[in-house]
Amino acid sequence: MFDVEKLVRKNIKELTPYSSARSEYMSSAGVFLDANENPFGNMNRYPDPYQYALKEKISLLKAIPPENIFVGNGSDEIIDLVIRIFCTPGVDKVLTFKPTYGMYEVATAINDVALLEIPLNKDFQIDIASLDTIWNNEALKVIFICSPNNPTGNVIDNIEYIIERFRGIVVVDEAYIDFAQSGSWIQQITTYPNLIVIQTLSKAWGLAAARIGIAYAQQATINYLNKVKAPYNISRLNQEAAMQTLEDQAIFESNRAILLQQKAWLEEQLSALPAVIKVFASDANFLLVEMTDADRIYKNLLAQNIITRNRTHVVQNCIRITVGSSKENIQLIQALQQIQA
Ligand SMILES: *Cc1c(COP(=O)(O)O)cnc(C)c1O
Repeated sequence: MFDVEKLVRKNIKELTPYSSARSEYMSSAGVFLDANENPFGNMNRYPDPYQYALKEKISLLKAIPPENIFVGNGSDEIIDLVIRIFCTPGVDKVLTFKPTYGMYEVATAINDVALLEIPLNKDFQIDIASLDTIWNNEALKVIFICSPNNPTGNVIDNIEYIIERFRGIVVVDEAYIDFAQSGSWIQQITTYPNLIVIQTLSKAWGLAAARIGIAYAQQATINYLNKVKAPYNISRLNQEAAMQTLEDQAIFESNRAILLQQKAWLEEQLSALPAVIKVFASDANFLLVEMTDADRIYKNLLAQNIITRNRTHVVQNCIRITVGSSKENIQLIQALQQIQA
């Protein structure tokens, strides 16, 4: 039986977290002389360290209790905190499936934790046979699975197989889940105590500037995230921006519908170009496109002031293209039509 207490680093378990003055007395009325704030101005008070109002909104929207929700300063903060809670520097290991999101590798390296990388197969899926050596690897504490995967765009199969067998933490990064045909893993946190699901307001919700990442997990895991985070990790401005954005479900739905429609249009247009060899199926808001010569085409687009992501060193001759507005997508296609295959 999985017990998160057995997996958490000893120093984290024994840590007495910083107790912010304000989190002990949450009532809004009172004479606040506890936090060395300035009494003047309207941004002078520290924000709610646990973002109760924001979590209430997320909870209603996602049908997950607030105790199972953690809000991070972007998903990137959450990725870093998970590594810090479970992996001892110089001792423990993290596993990813490549190609995938670059921050797992960077956050692992910053924490001086070793990274195991297993290649995805030619369909960008996890080969069950490639996992044979991991089950008995005592040093392996965390597995990151990005689904839909960045930069390949596909939903990953066999996630349940891994969660059920792995004794450590499985993080499923669902940054692009709102664009996917398949459902989220968040409701599975009650079934699997070793599962952490990460979502973000940076993509489908259009709030990248506000830096709001969300983790869903069993309460004991959420408590550890709260224990190690910076006391006021989400500014009041960003908490308010997030609440306002979540309020407007209609705008979210209509923007999502537009982007999915634009993705289909782009797929069709790109496929017809002589410079394009293949457009990979995508469950995200981007397309991975195999070109005749990715380096040359990428540079040519850049010269036409169109910025894409050259992924040729990750997936040979591929460029990752974000689905933009109709106007931007037309500009992209026109620019590509100028380029020799
Ligand atoms: C864009 C992206 C994120 C978002 O990170 P934030 O810090 O929340 O903006 C997370 N994971 C993946 C795989 C991404 O591509």
